[in-house]
Amino acid sequence: MSQAVERSFVGGRYLANGDGQCFDVVNPGTGEVIYQVETADEAVLEQAMASARAGFALWSAMTPVERSRILLKAVALLREHNDELAAIEVADTGKPWQEASVVDVETGADSIEFFAGLAAGIEGNHQQVGDDFYYTRREPLGICAGIGAWNYPLQIACWKAAPALACGNVMIFKPSEETPRGALKLAEIFMEAGMPAGVFNVVQGDAQVGQWLTRHPDIAKVSFTGEVETGQKVMRDAASSLKEVTMELGGKSPLIIFDDADLDQAVSAAMLANFYTQGEICTNGTRVFVHDSIKQPFLNKLLERIGNNMVVGDPMNPETNFGALISANHQQQVLNYIQNGLDEGATLLCGGRSLSPEAVPGGFFVAPTVFSDCDDTMTICREEIFGPVMSVLSFDDEQEVIARANASGYGLAAGVFTRDITRAHRVISRIEAGICWINAYGASPAQMPVGGYKLSGIGRENGLATLNHYTQLKAVYVGMAPLESPF
Ligand code: NDP
Repeated sequence: MSQAVERSFVGGRYLANGDGQCFDVVNPGTGEVIYQVETADEAVLEQAMASARAGFALWSAMTPVERSRILLKAVALLREHNDELAAIEVADTGKPWQEASVVDVETGADSIEFFAGLAAGIEGNHQQVGDDFYYTRREPLGICAGIGAWNYPLQIACWKAAPALACGNVMIFKPSEETPRGALKLAEIFMEAGMPAGVFNVVQGDAQVGQWLTRHPDIAKVSFTGEVETGQKVMRDAASSLKEVTMELGGKSPLIIFDDADLDQAVSAAMLANFYTQGEICTNGTRVFVHDSIKQPFLNKLLERIGNNMVVGDPMNPETNFGALISANHQQQVLNYIQNGLDEGATLLCGGRSLSPEAVPGGFFVAPTVFSDCDDTMTICREEIFGPVMSVLSFDDEQEVIARANASGYGLAAGVFTRDITRAHRVISRIEAGICWINAYGASPAQMPVGGYKLSGIGRENGLATLNHYTQLKAVYVGMAPLESPF
């Protein structure tokens, strides 16, 4: 049987490339090739630019309320097609249906809904200068590029498209080669909602296609989600035409558990922060600092819950709560990190190996893994693993744990568990991270701005702050009196 072939979505329709060049997409849960995708060639990319220019002329001329209505129709369609879209995400990413069916589509729709609601409220200001005055206009930037990672493909496309389009921009989006379908479905939904062709285009391919966008002089902004090193390359390329950039990059975030914390809650947070989406989440709290006095009871509870509650298997099975890693290659990288942990003297408490569940023996699974007796210098405590590997570290002093939590080039997220409210806020105020949780972990509502400190990023996604990253400010001075001039 011939495989289905996906294409780029340009100017409101699927567009074939010239030479039929394709790449395979593998279902990480089974290890099987599920479809192919045509790589966008020069002609497809040029057409995406042309249609984006035409789309911008139409979209930016519409009133914000008109744009908002279309975006809200798309929100309704996303929710209506939740299950179909979630199944696509499960097949592309290997994450459990249990998650995708309640999180991925929903959080994407939430962000579009949030920004659609703000569209008509975007305004400038006015100030009197004697009889003269000036006012400001918040104008769209133009054609924005979105470049996505593979862990939340549809959600990332929504989080980038939502503020961009609400502000009157258009977007050319390049999904990860590993997860190309979610963004295509979003493009179809936007069309069905009444969006003009060319406002949201999807181009398929690898780093070269990404580079074509980031180097193009007519792209006004790049919003990128991915690894730090790739982000640095993207920024260098974007510098050639001084593009605005938003960077959502990696992390090695601390989760700090004080001796007065609710232990069950703290264990829940540590598990969510390491095993949700089988550990493939940028904000993961992979350095779990536990106060010396509660370390043993914490570990006992943690191991008991991992043993009793984690269900690894076919990601589409509703019982499964722990899925497969994105690829065989990534699975091997995670296993290499585990070997590093062993070589450098950490104690392996559970996991530490690949798994072949009976129902899906070819999937790329790695067992939920916990190391204790870790120290800050170990590779597993310094580098982002992006897999289900938790490193438990101990501490006994507040100042000490703050310093150790901050001793990282990353600064994406952090969590603190304590019942002492003054300590919670005091500690968080000193943590160098853009996304922080107190007695919680991972929640990220659309109205909350998210982004990294230090190497973890630039700019923000979601929240009001993002409107500034998708608009430019025009100041207009108006002379009311005759112009004075020495000439
Ligand atoms: P990568 O950096 O490898 O890739 C991200 C995207 O960039 C992909 O679409 C990729 O294309 C593309 N790309 C690769 N090279 C270039 C280039 N030179 N120019 C332009 N585009 C390029 O990241 P992953 O896909 O491996 O995603 C995992 C990473 O993403 C982790 O580090 C994780 O922390 C981070 N992440 C951060 C989030 C945040 O919000 N802070 C959220 C989610 C993930 P292709 O892969 O198709 O070749």
